[in-house]
Amino acid sequence: MAAPRHVEIAGGGFAGLATATAFRQRGWTARIHETAPELRSFGAGIFIWENGLRVLKVLGAYEAVIDNAHEAPAYEGRNEHNERISYHTLDGDCRMLTMTRQHLYAAMLAAAERAGVEFETSSEIIAADPDGALIGANGREYQGDLVVGADGVNSKVRTSLGVATERETFTHGVIRVLVPRGAHDLAETNPDNVINFWAPRLKILYVPCTEDILYMAMMVARDDVEATTIPVNKKVWCEELPFLAHIIERIGDDGRYDDYETTKLERMSVGRAVLVGDSAHPMPPTLGQGAGCAIMNALGLAVAIDEAGDDIRAGLDAWERRERPLTDHTQDVSGLYVRSRAGSDGSDKWDDAAMRTARHVPTGTEGVVF
Ligand SMILES: Cc1cc2nc3c(=O)[nH]c(=O)nc-3n(C[C@H](O)[C@H](O)[C@H](O)COP(=O)(O)OP(=O)(O)OC[C@H]3O[C@@H](n4cnc5c(N)ncnc54)[C@H](O)[C@@H]3O)c2cc1C
Repeated sequence: MAAPRHVEIAGGGFAGLATATAFRQRGWTARIHETAPELRSFGAGIFIWENGLRVLKVLGAYEAVIDNAHEAPAYEGRNEHNERISYHTLDGDCRMLTMTRQHLYAAMLAAAERAGVEFETSSEIIAADPDGALIGANGREYQGDLVVGADGVNSKVRTSLGVATERETFTHGVIRVLVPRGAHDLAETNPDNVINFWAPRLKILYVPCTEDILYMAMMVARDDVEATTIPVNKKVWCEELPFLAHIIERIGDDGRYDDYETTKLERMSVGRAVLVGDSAHPMPPTLGQGAGCAIMNALGLAVAIDEAGDDIRAGLDAWERRERPLTDHTQDVSGLYVRSRAGSDGSDKWDDAAMRTARHVPTGTEGVVF
């Protein structure tokens, strides 16, 4: 019997875990190299829409994810006077779940471990050889039938492959924090809703993750020195959104500010090396679809390579032709949201375009029944 084919993966984030699990499910062996000393997720909260939930179901992580995730009854917009400017209920056919990142990560990691994925922590990858190897900072070469750069927005694998790249850093970025929820938060509306609070200078996205934990994504211009500082400058944020002061006051000293960035690649693979997730297509978080696209493309990659049999190159080309149009669309719309502050005036200008990704049935999830 022929030996199983093998995939080597740089990066143990959502893209790396999904890729490894999907290949293991198709009989490949899979190893993840993670530069950090431990496997865990950084950041605060995350949205996973219906498209992502379908992928999680196929990967075997869905049940654990929904066990402690929040399903908001509605998505509201409010202005700087705390007046409602938009309101959407979310139907059962297209769910939007919110959760902590660590919760999603733990569920995906457990699914990868059950599938038999191997892990090397403290293993930094500095390059990929398109003939089928990852190169470690320790000087070792790790051979694979396929090698994957899932090493995030500052991907070394991408740089080493020399793929032509357009990069954009937006005028705005975001501070992400988790805070405890309070019994009397937002008495004027349903505190279980996800709510975008728009003020002229700053914006807060209020996101319940569990009964006790709230995620706040605090959008701010990157040149706003006062409001981008960590620990959060509570005085500045309270002045802009005073009716949220009771929550802002609960923010601790942690948190981080990140720019919004995108890269557009001329192509996502070279030889037998391929880029998946933020290494290929980072996007502003305005649609909550960066990880969604990463895990859709990871599963779609395993399906396409499986369909192509021995011709891995043909599989990679078929994958990019099939998956890339929706990824490009999602990146473009998420960028428009930042540039136009779409939603700040209560308009729903981009909603149909935004919902296209959430309503998509990802490759490999066609028969999914929840
Ligand atoms: C503010 C913000 C909010 C967001 N909100 C959402 C949301 O609500 N919903 C959503 O779907 N998406 C969201 N996203 C996007 C989402 O976080 C990313 O798209 C997703 O994390 C990408 O996963 P990834 O595995 O490709 O990259 P990462 O999560 O960055 O993982 C990369 C991994 O590779 C490791 N690594 C890096 N370099 C090396 C190396 N040289 N060798 C080995 N390992 C390496 C890193 O340590 C890390 O573990 C948000 C992003 C931001 C910035």
